[in-house]
Amino acid sequence: MSQLDPAGKVRVQWSLYPDFNEPTPWRFQLHVNYDGDPENWEPVGNAVEDTFYVEQPLQLARFKNLLPQFKVVLIAAKTYDSLETTVLPKKLALIGQGIYRRLLLERSFLPRPKGILLRRKTSGQICTSCADKFGKQPLQSDCTTCYGTGIIGGYWKANTDNLGLLSEDVSAAAITQMGHIDPARRKAIIVGLPQPTPGDIWIDSQTGRRYRVRTVAVTSAIFDWPIVVQAELGLLAPKDVIYQFPL
Ligand SMILES: [Zn+2]
Repeated sequence: MSQLDPAGKVRVQWSLYPDFNEPTPWRFQLHVNYDGDPENWEPVGNAVEDTFYVEQPLQLARFKNLLPQFKVVLIAAKTYDSLETTVLPKKLALIGQGIYRRLLLERSFLPRPKGILLRRKTSGQICTSCADKFGKQPLQSDCTTCYGTGIIGGYWKANTDNLGLLSEDVSAAAITQMGHIDPARRKAIIVGLPQPTPGDIWIDSQTGRRYRVRTVAVTSAIFDWPIVVQAELGLLAPKDVIYQFPL
């Protein structure tokens, strides 16, 4: 999934097939095709590890009238190309930006916490510290090898300044009588990429509080491109092993 902003920065998010289990390290390299010629793929930025997401500036002037194409090349024991993806056509991207601007105006009174999204791993080496090879042994919830996911490493990391807006939905945000927002249950409105899925972790950059993403619903989309996503977040207790996940 990819998204291009007017300044020419592209955001790309990918996922792996659950049965992919080549030995790590796995490195991901974003490629762009500026002119539509299938011979003309070129790398953008450096390869990244242990993430599911990149943001990279592009040379906008090099796009003719074609939509840019992107793919991610996975370098493991062998090399794999992702499916190709593109971005919204400019007209539709402008509509998407309009939705975003309106959202900001309507909710100008709400805090705009920034955060880091950790995506729960669904593929990779099985954790040997707490899961036996038959998968019968229950996971240890305090395991710092897999963080309770059963897969070594536990989570992919996306360092991002993506905006999460608290919902105006009072019942969901649970605003107390004193006017404070109950941090245990929050609704976040997330615009564009990276996008959370249930089971992911969202870390509030300001407070350091860590939340599990409970539900995700696309509230605004253009074709298949989600523009606005609403997520319900549940605060995790300080003793939760996820607080030991290094950033
Ligand atoms: Zn484990």
